[in-house]
Order: sequence, then C-alpha cells, then structure tokens
Amino acid sequence: MASFSTRGVILKRFPLGEKDKLCILFTHAHGKLRVSARGARQSSSKLAGVSEPMVILDAQLHKGTTFHILAQAETVETFPVIKTDIALISFAMFLLELVERLTEDEDPAPDLYELLVRTLYLLTASSDPASLVLAAQWHVLHLTGYMPRIRECCICDTALRDTSGIPFYAAHRGGVICHRCADGYRGETLAFTRPLQATLHQIGDLSTPGDWSSFTVNETIQPLLWQLVRSHMKAMTDRDLKTMVFLDAMRFDAIGKI
Ligand SMILES: [Zn+2]
Repeated sequence: MASFSTRGVILKRFPLGEKDKLCILFTHAHGKLRVSARGARQSSSKLAGVSEPMVILDAQLHKGTTFHILAQAETVETFPVIKTDIALISFAMFLLELVERLTEDEDPAPDLYELLVRTLYLLTASSDPASLVLAAQWHVLHLTGYMPRIRECCICDTALRDTSGIPFYAAHRGGVICHRCADGYRGETLAFTRPLQATLHQIGDLSTPGDWSSFTVNETIQPLLWQLVRSHMKAMTDRDLKTMVFLDAMRFDAIGKI
C-alpha cells in the first residue's frame, strides 16, 4: 500500500463504526484529506488524543480510495492554552469550520494552511482575540474565493465611493448594494455603514497575520462584522455555521439573523 508523510491540522472528526474516527485533516502539501484513525475512539489508542480538532500532527498515511488510513502520528501542537479558555476554543473552532466549509478535498492551499496555523498560534497570546479572528476570517474568505463584493454595487455596478446614502450588504447578492438599488430590493439586508466599510478596507490592507494581532476592531463594529460573515456564509453554503452557536452563547448580543 502506498504511503506518504504530511503535516496537518485536524479540522473536524466524526465517529466511524464503533472504534474508529474519520478525521478531516487540513495539510500544507495536499489540502484537505479524509483520514481514518483506526481504533482512535478507544482511550487506550495512541491515536485517541492526536485525532482531535485543532491538533497539529505529523502523519504517516496509507493511501486509500474513499479515505486514507492514519498509520502513525506524532503530535506537533495541541494548543493547551486555547483548550482551557471557552472563548478561545469558540474562536478557534469557528476558524476550523470556516476552512472546512470553504475548501475542497485534496486541493492544496498552502497559504490558507499557513494563515490558519499562524492564527491559532497568535490566539494563544492575543489580548484581543475577537479582532484577531475577525481579521483572519476576512482573509480566509479572500484566499478561498468567497470574499463578498464590497466596493461596487452588486446590482448596478456603481462604485460605492461614487454614491451617497448608506449602502446595504445583501447576502444573497454576494455583497453590497447601493442605496438606490436597495429601494426596490426585497431580500434581507444589513446596513453597510461607513465605519464598517472603513474597518473592512483596513483589514484588507493587513498583509500578514502578524499585523492582525495588533489590529483592533471597534466594539460597535464587531457585532456587525460577525453578523455579516454569518449571513454571508449561510448564503454561500446554504447552512448556518455550527460554531456560531458557541459564539452566540458568549453573548455577542448583536449577532442576529438577517
Ligand atoms: Zn446599485
């Protein structure tokens, strides 16, 4: 059986049969892989701890047709600081879900891998994890091709800088619409205020995760941005983000359904 070695981070895992786990492993070299960890649901298994979400591991895999088999694994990082803080867990799981939902199997995305892993490390020492994750998620959308259109109206193509009045974010149009087009628009919208626009342009200008860690999203903008990304993801993938339940529970009061 052909085998190969790779480093990756576990995005998600499911029970597989009575004793195994099916892991979604996001790797630097091969993109997202489906990997069976045999016996990993048994606490005595060497693969039990290493086959959990957020763990970075060096894996030796046997190639399979439906999924690969995890033959050996060496733990690189388990992020104990994140795992002891409910807020940090929620932010990290949100990023893992975002990457899992927006990537295809076996489609290498090394820049996205670097972004995810770097952000997880930055989370362990961040004084403002919400701002860090809001900046990171925007770059995840960019790298996966799911960035909403925010500079021109998605209906009439007019550049927003050439319009007056408040434009709106319209999830089912994939971006913003100008105030004139919003007049006759029947779908749900979110006011795309100037401060929100300015924040997103600032985030877009931050080129590396190192820049994000010193970036602060104003507290009045944060709930709007969470609401925007949630409704955007729902419109793009036809499902709500599961991890938003945790973020809701952390009293991001203004997160709502639009
Ligand atoms: Zn328009």
